[in-house]
Order: sequence, then C-alpha cells, then structure tokens
Amino acid sequence: DDAEPRVTVKSTCAYCGVGCGVLLTPDGKGGLEVRGDPDHPANRGRLCSKGSALGETVGLAHRLLAPVVNGRATGWDDALQLVADRFRETIAEHGPDAVALYVSGQLLTEDYYVANKLAKGFMGTANIDTNSRLCMASTVAGQRRAFGTDTVPQTYEDLEEADLIVLVGSNMAWCHPVLYQRVLAARAARRTKIVVVDPRRTASCDGADLRLALEPGSDVALFNRLLADLYEGGALDATFLRHTEGFDETLAQAMNDDISVTGLAEEDVQAFVRLWRDNEKVVTVFSQGVNQSSAGSDKVNAILNCHLATGRIGKPGCGPLSVTGQPNAMGGREVGGLANMLACHLDLENADHRAAVRDFWGCDRVPEAPGLKAVDMFRAVGDGRIKALWVIHTNPAVSMPDADAVREAIRGCDFVVVSDVTAATDTARLADVLLPATAWGEKSGTVTNSDRTISRQRAVLPAPGLTRPDWAQLAEVGRRMGFKNAFDYASEAEIFREYAALSGIAGRFGKDFDISGLAGLDRAGYDALPPVRWPVSATRTGGRFFADGQFYHADGKARLVPVAWRPPVAKVGPRYPFRLNTGRIRDQWHTMTRTALSPRLAAHLAEPFLEIHPEDAADLGIGLADLCVLDSPQGRAILRARITDDVLRGQVFAPMHWTGETAPAARIDAVVAPVVDPVSGQPESKASVVKVSRM
Ligand code: SF4
Repeated sequence: DDAEPRVTVKSTCAYCGVGCGVLLTPDGKGGLEVRGDPDHPANRGRLCSKGSALGETVGLAHRLLAPVVNGRATGWDDALQLVADRFRETIAEHGPDAVALYVSGQLLTEDYYVANKLAKGFMGTANIDTNSRLCMASTVAGQRRAFGTDTVPQTYEDLEEADLIVLVGSNMAWCHPVLYQRVLAARAARRTKIVVVDPRRTASCDGADLRLALEPGSDVALFNRLLADLYEGGALDATFLRHTEGFDETLAQAMNDDISVTGLAEEDVQAFVRLWRDNEKVVTVFSQGVNQSSAGSDKVNAILNCHLATGRIGKPGCGPLSVTGQPNAMGGREVGGLANMLACHLDLENADHRAAVRDFWGCDRVPEAPGLKAVDMFRAVGDGRIKALWVIHTNPAVSMPDADAVREAIRGCDFVVVSDVTAATDTARLADVLLPATAWGEKSGTVTNSDRTISRQRAVLPAPGLTRPDWAQLAEVGRRMGFKNAFDYASEAEIFREYAALSGIAGRFGKDFDISGLAGLDRAGYDALPPVRWPVSATRTGGRFFADGQFYHADGKARLVPVAWRPPVAKVGPRYPFRLNTGRIRDQWHTMTRTALSPRLAAHLAEPFLEIHPEDAADLGIGLADLCVLDSPQGRAILRARITDDVLRGQVFAPMHWTGETAPAARIDAVVAPVVDPVSGQPESKASVVKVSRM
C-alpha cells in the first residue's frame, strides 16, 4: 500500500465558547475525520453533537471562492483597491466616523487584532463593534464595574470542585454541552448539587436539585434577596469585605428590593438561600439569560455582589463563571474588538493608555470617545451617518434585533463590504463587494475560550479557490489606504507576537491581561503552542484571580454595585400579551451557515417552532403543529406550534437560527425589539412582547 500516511492535526472546535480541542485527520477526499482531543484541558476528549459533526460541514458546494464586485466575480487586486479607495474617500469627505466595521466572535484573535488596529489606530474611528455585543457585553460591563477590568476569575476545573453549581440563564446542556458533561460527571462523583434559574424548563433542568422558574428579567431581585438573607444569617465574609467598597449602599439596596417580582414561592427562595449558606464551594455559571437583557449588567453585578460579599471568588470550586457563546468571544474582548474598548484590556477613556497604544502602533492618534455599539451602529447605517460598512463573518440582517429594519439599513448604505465563506446569507446578498475568506479547517490562528485558555486553530485543508484569511484582507486594505509599515505582516504568527508584546504594556499599567511571555515565540513555537491559560507573563501563568483580595480598581479593591430590579422595557398588555424568549437549540449554530450542512444535525429539530403553553394554545385555538403568526411592534414571524409546559403561561419561546435563506417567514429577530442595556449596549433578546394567533 503506497497511500500517503494520514497526518492528524490538533485544532479547536469552530463553535461554542467551551473551546474543545479536536483532532483533525483529512480523509484525502476533501473531508475530515474529527475526534475529541484527549489532551485538551477544556474537553479531555469529549465532543458534543455539533463538534463531532464538523467533518460533515467542510464541503465546498456552498463556498464563496472569488471576490465579487457588484455581482461580478473579479480578482483580489480590483476588489481590495475598491474597498481601500471607498473607505479612504468616505473618511476624507465625511470624517472617520462615517465608516464602520462590524465583526464577529468567529474571527481568530489575529484577524480581530488587525481589524481593531485598522479601525482605531489608522482609520481613526472607534466604530468597530462585534456580534459579541449580542453575546456577553453585559458581563464585560459588570466585571469592569466590580473588578476594575474584564476578568473571568474562575476555571473549568472549578466545576469539578464545587459543592453547589448555580446555572443562571444558561441552558448548558444544549449550549455548552461538554461543560455540562463535566458537571454531570462531577455530580456523579461527588454529589454536586445543581440549581437552575431560568423561566423556561430546559434540558439543563433534568436532575436539578432545585429549579427556580422566575419571571423573565427578575434575576436582580433574586440575588438581592440572597445577599440580604445571607447578611441576616451571618453568612457574609467580613474579612474579605475589607477588599471591597460599596457594601453598605449595596446591602441597603438589596434589602429594599421586592422578591415578589420573581413570582417564586417563598419556600423555593429559602431553599436557594439555604443551599448557598450550607455550601462553601459555590460556582455560579451565567450566560445569555443574564446578558441579553436591558438589565444585563445589573444582573451580572447582583451575582458578583453575592460572591464578593461571601468571599466566594477565585478559589478552587468557588466563584462566578461567565460562559460565552462564541468560539472567540473572549479573544475579541482581549484585542479590544468592542467599540468601547482599546486593546489588551486597556481603556479607551484613559489618555495614558491611548498614548501608549498610539506609540506602539505608530499612528497619529487613537479615538478618545467610544464608537457606536451594534444597535446604534445599524441605526447610524440606516440614517446615513455611516456610509461605508465592512461586515466580517456575521449576518446582522438576520441576527440583529429589529432585523427587517437592519436589513433595510444595510440595503440603503452607500458602500457595503462583506467578508465571509459563503455568499448565501441575508447580509451577503446586500453587499457591493464580497471578499472570500478561508474557513475553519483552512485557517490558522488562536482563540480564547470561556476560562481564558488560548488554543491554536490550525489549517489542515488547503485554502480553496481564491480565498484568503481575514487578517490578510484587512492588512492589504490597510496598506492600500497608505499605512504600509503598520500592516506589513507576513503571517498570523507575526501578528500574534505583536499582540502579545502590546499586552506587556497592559501588564505594566497593572492590567490583568498580559501574555507578554508569548511575545518571543518563533514560527515553530507558535505552531506548536499548546493550550495555555492567560496570563502568561514573566511573573505568572494561568491560575485564578482575586482569592488574594487584589482587584484592578485604582485602590486595589473590588466594588459591590448597588442594583435594583427593573422590569424588561417592553410591556406585556392587551395588544401584545405574550413575552417572547429566544435562544439556541442543541444542534444548530447561529444562522446555520455551517451546521445546516450536516444532515444528522438537521434531524434533531428540523424546522423553526414556537413553544407555547397548552392552556394558552387552547385559548387561541392552536393545535399541535399548527402554524402560528407572531406579531410585534417591529415585525412578523410564522412558526409551527410546539405545545409544551416547558414554558409558563404568557410566555413563548422561539429558536434564533433560521434565516431568509432557510425559512424566510421565521426570521425571529424581525420581531425582537431593539432595546438595550444602558450600560453595556447589549440588546434585550429574551424579553420582547408579541401577539400570537393561529394562521
Ligand atoms: Fe464544540 Fe462547544 Fe460542542 Fe465543545 S461543547 S464540541 S466547543 S460546540
């Protein structure tokens, strides 16, 4: 047998923020065998349904393989020159804030770094935001308020050392399945208790010791009550509280809040408080049910207040753990991919930080004011303030709230560039210029998962057609705009070295994010880089934060933040009597551009649906599998009824995945209201109001 030996390459899953390691073996026919990497600390060989089906999604049938300008295939030279010219002309005529980049947690860190540098350092605008704004911006804001920087204190190992795990707004069983498998294994080994706080009964509630089906948006009241009761029961940590400020105001506010807004039975609330009081090792895992709310930042701080006041933070088995949605949401935060951040956790509003970054990048200035966050960015596209828009690896015409209005805004924009792996998305169809990107399996770089572990994604398949990595597209546009030296990168390894060196400046400013210990990696070292948890500096590697009581505010103390319950912005009433919750299903990912390619993933839940309570369905004359019409002040969607008491009366749930390409009537974000958290700018994607009727 003279067949070539098959080489297996270590990489990272394309999907969620768990960041599982995968072993990829090309089958020689363009496909891939995919197995879990037993050596990766996130998954230790496990994979979920989506990860294990990755090999079924790497075909080329759907791919964009050449640049396209105004509907005609062309070469890179024409396409990139046009992009550079139009961005430069728009800036010259209308100022730098007339352009914007809208990027994605699907980008690798090196791509993200170049995009942020191009916008904030050289185009002169902070108008770069990311779909991570829809994912975990409230966690960023809450952690910065509490800790002085956006730090995840805990690690995944804490799930195995905890005695009590509280899942808040997290259907971990479906959305972070491998972490949930770790939780179940820990429970079997050490009888870990599990509490689920969620208005909806999800797969994560199976086997929970306590389920708290609270009213949508009332989490602040629950955690305020927890804080007040722990105080009255003498269960706070007076020693640790010396490392904090704001306790008196926070406690007073907590004692003032009204638990009745949660709709929970008093005995369940007391059971929750007892579990906290009786278990020293508590991990609170929180996700989109917390973040995607007009009170998202306050919810995060209500949770952090309880951990800080009890000293349950940064210790083995003990602390708050935000789990992110996307494969590189954390990497995007680290490079400053949000409109209100700089790079490496440096602060846009700090003149010394701006000056240091300006000198490092060799640019004239860095914007002082934050740019437009996602919802405001698309409003500015709609009213003509933004005249040139570059969308990279995301599909805002489907995934933004008020999606019909966003689609029309993009359609009306003077100049729209879309970089993606396919032209078959609602947003790509609106582009003036389409730039073909290399996809997962073909591109190389790093991602950071939810517990700060940086992992390599490695190329194992050839780049098809004329596709190029995103960093190369961005750097070439930077060079053609006249910034030759700043974007003269030969490889993603070179970009990573620069980024790691910049983080050393952040470290010298006393920031948490410092990976300067990786700044000297040569190409071989970068290629061989094993998973490593940041920080990686001369003084420390990995570990947890804050058990020593040292935080990142100027005085070194944490802040307890007084927060009061606020209801969701949209009000249920006679015209719109239902509260609409949206979210993921187990086997689909985002707007399905990849997962829809796998028949076995499509078999799980094959079409969009609306979960509605049996009594509500009966009142409306809706029978099993009937089509339902959802109307909201923003728009309309049509979905098939799934009658279930998983949702409470007055509430309905719909998945977020289907698009104009896959089910044009079921674009659920067309009915979601574009209201945001005033602190984080994150949309309230789980508490719109709708009318439901039988079609
Ligand atoms: Fe991929 Fe997330 Fe599943 Fe792991 S848990 S295999 S990262 S989708």
